[in-house]
Amino acid sequence: MTTAENQKPNRHNRARPVKGVDWLHNPVFNKGTAFTAAERDALGLRGLLPPHISTMEEQVLRVMTNFRNKPNDLERYVQIADLQDRNETLFYRVVMDNLEELMPVIYTPTVGRACQEYGSIFRRSRGIYISSKDAGQIDAILHNWPTRDVKVIVVTDGERILGLGDLGASGMGIPVGKLSLYTACAGIHPTQCLPITIDVGTNNATLLNNPLYTGLRQERIRGAEYDALIEEFMVAVEKRFPGVLVQFEDFGNQNAFRLLEKYRGRACTFNDDIQGTGAVALAGILSALRITGGKLRDQRVLLLGAGEAGMGIAGNIVNVLVEEGLTPAEACQRCWFVDSKGLIVKGRDHLNEHKLPYAHEHAPCADLLFAIKSIKPTMLVGASGQAKSFTQEIIKAMGEFNQRPVIFALSNPTSKAECTAEEAYTWTEGRAVFASGSPFAPVTINGRTLVPGQGNNAYIFPGVGLGVVCTGARRVTDAMFIKAARALASLIRESELAEGRVYPTLQRIHEVSHAIAVAVAEEVFAEKLNSQPRPADLPGYIRSQMFKPEYPDYCKT
Ligand code: NAD
Repeated sequence: MTTAENQKPNRHNRARPVKGVDWLHNPVFNKGTAFTAAERDALGLRGLLPPHISTMEEQVLRVMTNFRNKPNDLERYVQIADLQDRNETLFYRVVMDNLEELMPVIYTPTVGRACQEYGSIFRRSRGIYISSKDAGQIDAILHNWPTRDVKVIVVTDGERILGLGDLGASGMGIPVGKLSLYTACAGIHPTQCLPITIDVGTNNATLLNNPLYTGLRQERIRGAEYDALIEEFMVAVEKRFPGVLVQFEDFGNQNAFRLLEKYRGRACTFNDDIQGTGAVALAGILSALRITGGKLRDQRVLLLGAGEAGMGIAGNIVNVLVEEGLTPAEACQRCWFVDSKGLIVKGRDHLNEHKLPYAHEHAPCADLLFAIKSIKPTMLVGASGQAKSFTQEIIKAMGEFNQRPVIFALSNPTSKAECTAEEAYTWTEGRAVFASGSPFAPVTINGRTLVPGQGNNAYIFPGVGLGVVCTGARRVTDAMFIKAARALASLIRESELAEGRVYPTLQRIHEVSHAIAVAVAEEVFAEKLNSQPRPADLPGYIRSQMFKPEYPDYCKT
């Protein structure tokens, strides 16, 4: 498909508006003040818009001027969400042109605050809500969506929103934000993206008592009733949108792992908190090794937090080490965990099956600092949701036995980070190789400016999704995430490493997502999981599929 065809407004079976004013109220078709004189006449818009015909650049200037004048990020979030509801093309132009400035607003950390305030900032519904009261009706609900041409679904049940816990139906901000990034970072067409929240209730008493809360007023359903709802959902989406990619997002970990295991073999699905995080952290680790000069097999990685993120990261490290010739047991030896009950060691009670391979011989140890002093890790990775748990003593200890300690504080949002960039750099005299989940500003230390990496899953999942969509992959495998991580790590330039970055700048995100999509597509073909034939020019084909936020000329299309 050519780029021009890609931009056709009715490409995704959206009916064109009929009456003049409907063009202005339909975000897929609306151009606002950029409708041309010819379009205003042809579509019945004369007089319904101010006389000056704006260029898109003028519209972007207006949006960004207002954006920068807002008093806080939550107001910015509301402004930009309104724009998305009004004029999708302009929204993506603004986001793509200003990604570094907009990403922390449409995604972490501001999206976390927006989810906490969802009931009060709610204006217009976006996506689909399926509640436990809808059991038996999910197929009918999906028929209410205006197109069958859906390629990517992000679904949450709102139980573990970022590191903020159970936000119930208010978690909808997450699928909406993630799908905006699918388009902004990898050019998946916006009308092919569908955010879904499965509302099974919430155990968050504050929300249940808030008259503005938008979800069901009930405690979470669990067990067979919950599983039956998810099963009905998975069957219904595959029937309505055959081959659709389903990304599970921010489910509580008692459901996330088992749902991934249940569905990964029978649907095109993955869990971003486990697999996406695993890949982005692995890429950061591989880049960090280019700075520290070590080999992955020689590292001792200590992870704080043994949940979805921590297990996803360790799983990917192990997979790479096994690719490099270690046995699984040897590979697991390189990873240690401290969770809420202390160091995970052999013989500790009640270890679940995910933790067992990482339970090594060691005396029980309840304290992270003691564990660090004993194990002497080369890399310390935080994925615990516990703010400030990397104390000065801990970071200094890391600096004592490592010339270049690798310290990743991945917990989101910013308020939950295990330490700040400034702390990691200051307490190691600028020697730490640091990355975080939410963005931190550059830090100048001893006259040298260090730029912290943001281990944002947005480096990975949009490119993976693009590769999956462009090949019609029937499944998403762990090998695809390893390929994505390696592609990401290979793109970082020496000049970026020299600044302390372990990820390429966000300005390069389209190049990054494209390269990841090509790498993932190659893996899809290698595993024979494609349902579409291999194009002669794979990179060129994938590039041609990437949405560009440009206005069509409705007098010609
Ligand atoms: P999770 O609920 O699955 O796991 C949390 C883990 O932290 C559990 O193992 C728990 O035992 C442990 N924990 C809790 N309190 C602790 C304490 N005091 N000391 C040590 N460990 C403790 O959550 P998750 O999905 O793994 O996410 C964890 C954090 O990682 C969140 O803040 C999330 O936002 C962040 N995260 C970041 C990225 C990223 O940066 N790319 C991606 C995914 C998740």
